[in-house]
Amino acid sequence: MQPRITIARGDGIGPEIMKATLAVLKAAGAEFEIDEIEVGEKVYKAGHSSGIRPDDWKTIAQNKVLLKAPITTPQGGGYKSLNVTLRKTLGLFANVRPVTSLHPFVKTKHPEMDIVIVRENEEDLYAGIEHRQTPEVYQCLKLISRPGCEKIIRYAFEYARAMGRKKVTCMSKDNIMKLTDGVFHRTFDEIAKEYSDIENDHWIIDIGAAKLANSPQDFDVVVTTNLYGDIVSDIVAEISGSVGLAGSSNIGSNCAMFEAIHGSAPMIAGQGIANPSGLLLAGTQLLKHIGQGEVAGRVENAWLKTIEDGVATVDIYTEGVSSKKVNTQEFAQAVIDRMGQQPTKMKPRKSTSSHIDVSKFDDRPAPVKRELQGMDVFLYVEDRDPDKIGKKLESIAADSKLSLSMITNRGIKVYPDGNPETFCTDHWRCRFQGEDLVHSDLWSLLNAVTGEELDVIKTELLFSFDGEAGYSLGQGQ
Ligand code: NAD
Repeated sequence: MQPRITIARGDGIGPEIMKATLAVLKAAGAEFEIDEIEVGEKVYKAGHSSGIRPDDWKTIAQNKVLLKAPITTPQGGGYKSLNVTLRKTLGLFANVRPVTSLHPFVKTKHPEMDIVIVRENEEDLYAGIEHRQTPEVYQCLKLISRPGCEKIIRYAFEYARAMGRKKVTCMSKDNIMKLTDGVFHRTFDEIAKEYSDIENDHWIIDIGAAKLANSPQDFDVVVTTNLYGDIVSDIVAEISGSVGLAGSSNIGSNCAMFEAIHGSAPMIAGQGIANPSGLLLAGTQLLKHIGQGEVAGRVENAWLKTIEDGVATVDIYTEGVSSKKVNTQEFAQAVIDRMGQQPTKMKPRKSTSSHIDVSKFDDRPAPVKRELQGMDVFLYVEDRDPDKIGKKLESIAADSKLSLSMITNRGIKVYPDGNPETFCTDHWRCRFQGEDLVHSDLWSLLNAVTGEELDVIKTELLFSFDGEAGYSLGQGQ
């Protein structure tokens, strides 16, 4: 029996490039049956705020594999991003974006680049937990979990091994964010030891991104957190000279979604001139995922040969390099006509299967001993005098088991011994610490603080884990 996949033709150029993609995949001998769902603009406008009808989740869950063409997100509020909804609902934790330059057929300054960005897809600042805390200060929570790090990092190494790649590079900013990015880097170092056949290294994200932009040929597989991954995956796609040619996979424990990285290109929709390559390459990733790596290799090589022969849609047509300007379906036909052929100027692709059993990635870490050590109380105070706030809080805490250890403003210590040059906002983090604490000690202190008409906007409890502080020091502490 052939596997069933779900497809969504999307909006704008979506239906045109989906038709071309399916024609090529079928001509290459891909074996699957199709169930079709509708997502995107029409569904949003029919009143489904996430762009998908409730019943269609069942089809996606049953088939486990979705090939999705780009959609148009309607302007205005009230519409949720379908991509984010799909990723989160289906637990698609890994976003995998291979980018290869097609020199000299597509212009790029980096003829040798052949990179895969593996981006964590569910956590980090994209949890979307934001608050306005005071008239001046806004907050977005960056959540990084140890199981989340383990899954994505293990996936990157398993992917590298399955695809015959040599090196995995981790990028983080753990020199600044020692706990969140710190756990990502530490987990990387631990897991890397299990893959002695694959090289590993780490770059701080700022210089790492600069190196990626300048010498992408030095990288192989890059694994990073959600926001950095979002940025660096666009950088590498852009510098390859071919944003319109990249596909991506979103992989979860049960389901996976495959799509082009570009949008629905409404300006050229209906003209039949769009380049179907991004979705076609997403389709080859799908085939590798469902164990049809050989067919995927056949498609990729026929596609490379087509590009090499100078057959080009309008977006990649280059005078003097390209030989024939074609429309979407003609491009697909040119790939079909070259099925079984290999490129002779560019490196042929290998037939590989990328299916990775991610069910074993869900191991939970051993329990740790947790000890309550205090509380950060965040206050809204208009008066910008840290000494006044500090003295008041010290006198409030005098009768409690806690004492004020510092006040920071935007993370910088301003009490005790602050610097008068430090710019202060209306948002103060006041750290109280003590020994042998129970929760009621904190609540009593909090009552005393609010009793003095201080405006508490939030609290954050301080714990140690196996004797190690689970909170950062204040800058300057
Ligand atoms: P876009 O990627 O659709 O277009 C950017 C530019 O690239 C345009 O000039 C377009 O004509 C060109 N282009 C894109 N794909 C092409 C192709 N296959 N062949 C030839 N030219 C191509 O980005 P945009 O204009 O910012 O967004 C348009 C719509 O797409 C928006 O509604 C946006 O929300 C949506 N979008 C959807 C997805 C998705 O569904 N995954 C991703 C990005 C944007």
